[in-house]
Amino acid sequence: MEKVVIIGSGCAGWTGALYTARANLKPLVLMGAQPGGLLTTTSIVENFPGFPEGLDGFELMSRMQKQAERFGARATFGTVEKAEFSKRPFALTVDGEAIEAETVIIATGASHKHLGVPGEALLETKGVTYCATCDGALPIFRNQPLVVVGGGDSACEEALYLTRFGSEIFLIHRRDKLRASKIMAERALTHPKIRPLWDSAVMEILDAGQERVTGVKLKNLKTDAGTIVPCAGVFVAIGHAPNTGIFKGQVEMDGEGYIIRGKGAATSVPGVFVAGDCADRVYRQAVTAAGMGCAAAIEAERFLAAENQ
Ligand code: NAP
Repeated sequence: MEKVVIIGSGCAGWTGALYTARANLKPLVLMGAQPGGLLTTTSIVENFPGFPEGLDGFELMSRMQKQAERFGARATFGTVEKAEFSKRPFALTVDGEAIEAETVIIATGASHKHLGVPGEALLETKGVTYCATCDGALPIFRNQPLVVVGGGDSACEEALYLTRFGSEIFLIHRRDKLRASKIMAERALTHPKIRPLWDSAVMEILDAGQERVTGVKLKNLKTDAGTIVPCAGVFVAIGHAPNTGIFKGQVEMDGEGYIIRGKGAATSVPGVFVAGDCADRVYRQAVTAAGMGCAAAIEAERFLAAENQ
């Protein structure tokens, strides 16, 4: 029987692991489908305190893992298929195997949202992607016009990153003002290779028939005018959805699947705690996720201590 099982290995998961490990609870971290979480797909992280020059997202996550393991956290590549929180010990099915836990910290993060337009699914891996850092350097994108969809920090970051490879980067946003932070918006909008296309919705990604991206069909949402922008790649950066599907019916969630946090890091089930982007639709920063991981760990430790009194 595990004292603490942490589901997820992003900033929230590893910080929870660090704190529960230092409390001698020997946490088991289930690293899931994307070990290290979304941050491993970022290029340079400039806003994590303590790293004035910034550092690579993958590097940051590797360091967090090492730090937690130094104090006794254990990690496995498992992905949870089923969670049963109606009675204790809590039961998890991980890659077909049963694991019992006295407490659980859910830190499953979030995944990239999809546009849901024709051509998107068919052309995924054939020019449609959700990660410039992962795919931007591919030969098919070199010296070609590229499209980034979205108006937040992610879209700006993707567009800026792609200026290294593409000939011109079209930043397509459905409104006429970016949602991104001032510094990111300014960097993107003043870059000579980035061209914003405002008030525009992607209606279709072309050309599924040719099995490669040749352009996007746009509609101007103010004038209804339709245009086609030729491009070799479409980078979708329109935000994230929480990875909480397997917990449906087990813990309380809001309409979009974010786990509802009660006092501290509590969920609706005593002994199950939550941290990071799967419970946060507001801040969604590496440092806030880490903070929530710390809170969840302290709560789990106190919960176990109160039971053993
Ligand atoms: P976000 O802030 O939620 O922005 C999503 C963007 O996509 C918005 O501009 C939104 O348009 C647009 N959008 C959403 N659904 C759409 C759809 N179906 N079709 C077309 N456009 C759609 O998400 P994010 O940029 O991924 O950022 C998430 C969080 O991570 C934020 O807190 C951000 O600050 C943080 N982050 C920080 C950095 C950094 O500091 N370097 C980098 C990346 C992310 P509207 O504006 O019209 O809603």
